[in-house]
Amino acid sequence: MNISAKKVASIHYTLTNDAGEVLDTSKDQEPLAYLHGAQNLVPGLEKELEGKAVGDKLDVVVEPAEGYGEKDPQLIQAVPRTMFGGTDNIEVGMAFHAETQHGRQTVEVVEVDGDNVTVDGNHPLAGVRLNFAVEVTDIREATEEELQHGHVHSAGGCGHSH
Ligand SMILES: [Zn+2]
Repeated sequence: MNISAKKVASIHYTLTNDAGEVLDTSKDQEPLAYLHGAQNLVPGLEKELEGKAVGDKLDVVVEPAEGYGEKDPQLIQAVPRTMFGGTDNIEVGMAFHAETQHGRQTVEVVEVDGDNVTVDGNHPLAGVRLNFAVEVTDIREATEEELQHGHVHSAGGCGHSH
């Protein structure tokens, strides 16, 4: 069996940036099971997994455009400190949920200057080239329910509300 649409594939993966720092890994955990063809993975990685078989190992370099996108300067905004009502100590690196014109987003404080706070609503991996080392560990047919939902149901079932 090879990876194609409507298959559930399990992969072990390690994600590093160009500096070689590990950003995410399935090492020492269960492999990641995902529904192929349902955009569960970043496009650049999903594309390279097409047709692969159990035991295949691959190194995939994903440019930002096929990963988490380029950084959007419009998502970096200066807002008045009063917007954070109730939070006295605003520090660089803090994350907040915010309602924006792009919907509900997590924004991270990137600069604090007096009464002005600069927040960045980009995905933390936006603009980052992704280096994946992947090993395919399992492939199976997806269930009807998984296909309807567009994601994998593990032993615990759905875990999402629909
Ligand atoms: Zn579901």
